[in-house]
Amino acid sequence: MKPGRAATFGKSAAQLLVGCVRQVVTARPRTEPDAGLLEAVKQWQQVFEHNPVMYFMVDPAGTVINVNTFGAAQLGYKPAELIGRSVLDVFFEEDRDFVRTCVALCLKTIDQSHTWEIRKVRKDGSVLWVRENAKTMLRANGGPIVLVACENITERKEAENALRQSEAYLAQAQELSHTGSFGWKAATGEITWSKETYRIFQFEEGTKPEIPLMLERIHPEDRLAVQRTTGRAAREEKAFDHEYRLVMPDGSIKYVRAVARAMRDANGHVEFVGSVTDITATKEAERKLRDSEQRFRDYAETASDWFWETGPDHRVTQISEHSDTIAAPAGLIGLTRWDIAPDADLEPEKWQKHRAALDAHVPFRDLVYRSKDRNGKPIYVRTSGKPFFDADGVFLGYRGVCTDVTAAIRTNQAEEALRRAQAELAHVTRVTTLGELTASIAHEINQPLAAVIANADACLAWLQRSPPDLKAARRSVEWIIEDGTRASDVIRHVRALAKRSGIEMVPLDANVVVREAVALVQREMASHAVSVRMELSSALPKIFGDRIQLQQVLINLIMNGIEAMEDVNDRPRELTIRSGTSGDGAMLVSVSDCGFGISEQAIDRLFMPFFTTKSSGMGMGLSICRSIIEAHGGQLSAAPSQERGATFQIILPLHREETS
Ligand code: ADP
Repeated sequence: MKPGRAATFGKSAAQLLVGCVRQVVTARPRTEPDAGLLEAVKQWQQVFEHNPVMYFMVDPAGTVINVNTFGAAQLGYKPAELIGRSVLDVFFEEDRDFVRTCVALCLKTIDQSHTWEIRKVRKDGSVLWVRENAKTMLRANGGPIVLVACENITERKEAENALRQSEAYLAQAQELSHTGSFGWKAATGEITWSKETYRIFQFEEGTKPEIPLMLERIHPEDRLAVQRTTGRAAREEKAFDHEYRLVMPDGSIKYVRAVARAMRDANGHVEFVGSVTDITATKEAERKLRDSEQRFRDYAETASDWFWETGPDHRVTQISEHSDTIAAPAGLIGLTRWDIAPDADLEPEKWQKHRAALDAHVPFRDLVYRSKDRNGKPIYVRTSGKPFFDADGVFLGYRGVCTDVTAAIRTNQAEEALRRAQAELAHVTRVTTLGELTASIAHEINQPLAAVIANADACLAWLQRSPPDLKAARRSVEWIIEDGTRASDVIRHVRALAKRSGIEMVPLDANVVVREAVALVQREMASHAVSVRMELSSALPKIFGDRIQLQQVLINLIMNGIEAMEDVNDRPRELTIRSGTSGDGAMLVSVSDCGFGISEQAIDRLFMPFFTTKSSGMGMGLSICRSIIEAHGGQLSAAPSQERGATFQIILPLHREETS
């Protein structure tokens, strides 16, 4: 700091203050200042320096000729740093023209006060808002000087800015949320609207909002309700909340919701302050939701299934509304599934598994259990369910669907019973057939036994020779063993046929099955003078089936063929058995005879149970044969043979490994 300047400053400050204190000393003559005057100047200088108002004295060129310590300090300077500089230095570049204009105006209008608000820049670059009060005075030498007193209004300005900002935010928020605000003084009818409210009602901003204008916009069907609601609110001075429709200038419909609260203004009058929201989109979404809910309700109500919901304790909380029109059990609410299932104790394992799934909160599928319908009739129910949770993942229960599967279960049970009865019957007829085959079987066994005896005799004879012919004796014994084995094979086979054994599906060679069956009826054929012709394809793929059952079918067909040729005397009684594969990968086995054949009337009924044309016949054979073949996934059909007689054809699928 230059002392010279400080001295100048001190002098001119004192000089300038002379003007200010003129009134104080008007009584004094214009001579050298006396001690009293100097004292007054000093005091005023103190006031000038430390009064918390920023004072600037600027010459017509804009140079700072004085500034008080407070004023300089407010800008981060010492007075000496500012004195002699252009006052423009403490203003923003862009504000400087304005400052020049203001100073010029002051200079033009001596002794008149002017006020303006402007920003100043501190030494550190920060901003200060001030209100400047300026006035040009004439100095003792007649030169003009601009005195400026500034008041720091930064806080107010910041508050104003914040307010402006929050108003802007509010406007933004209103626009984004499609919510406008309004005020309504019920007594005077005065209405104020926010920008967004104007937008919602589609009125030009600035149009005076009046009730008739609003009513015009409101859908004619809703006008009365709106008037009633607002009228009652005004009378009772109570809050209101209502929804209504607007008809926009383009004819479109807008849904709005207006909510207002009653308040009292400064004069104690009721004033409503509220918001109005455009809820058209929400309404539309609600409508769509309602439509789709209705759709699902329609589906649900037309289904014979019923829907249920259980709580965290697995007790039923809800059940489809229409459940009373269908088989669903009644009075389920509050009960668990195992409370109502009479099989809960009978099948503990099933229920333990089910409850473990529920406790693990995993979905379950197709649980079938016994229950009772609303009339107490036993029913079978099949149910599947899925757990549901709240937004935090807390388990709330299960939702699912139940189906009455009684009919299906009963059908299954009936089919099972039928299957059992058929197997039983097949067994009985097999045993019956074996009874009929006694002669054949005896013959089958007798033959090797006779051979055994003959060979044993021969063996003895070889041994009795001198010397004994051991080689020949050994050969005889080997033949004995062979024949013995053959006899025992026949017995084993017959026992297998007679035994009530479960079905055993295995890969089979069709030709072997045919040969074994033929072996058992050999004698029967011989006694009826029937010859058999086997046309078996070699190297056949395997089939998959039960050996005993398939042999039963073949024996049945062969026996029927023998019987059909009983009266044939004019030609050889010949039975032909063929095997082979069809073009489309199936096994074909056929049994043809040249007997009396099948009449037109009989062809459709052959396979019916109890259809027989024989005096001692039972009429069950073919029906059982067909069910056996069908259980193997095949077909059994009958047709007249080419010349005379009948042909029965079996079609069987090949063993899967063979087809691939
Ligand atoms: P059953 O032999 O006890 O009569 P089946 O069911 O085996 O019972 O046969 C039913 C009927 O089918 C026989 O009574 C017969 O009229 C007819 N039938 C069966 N096989 C032949 C055949 N090979 N030729 C002509 N008719 C047959």
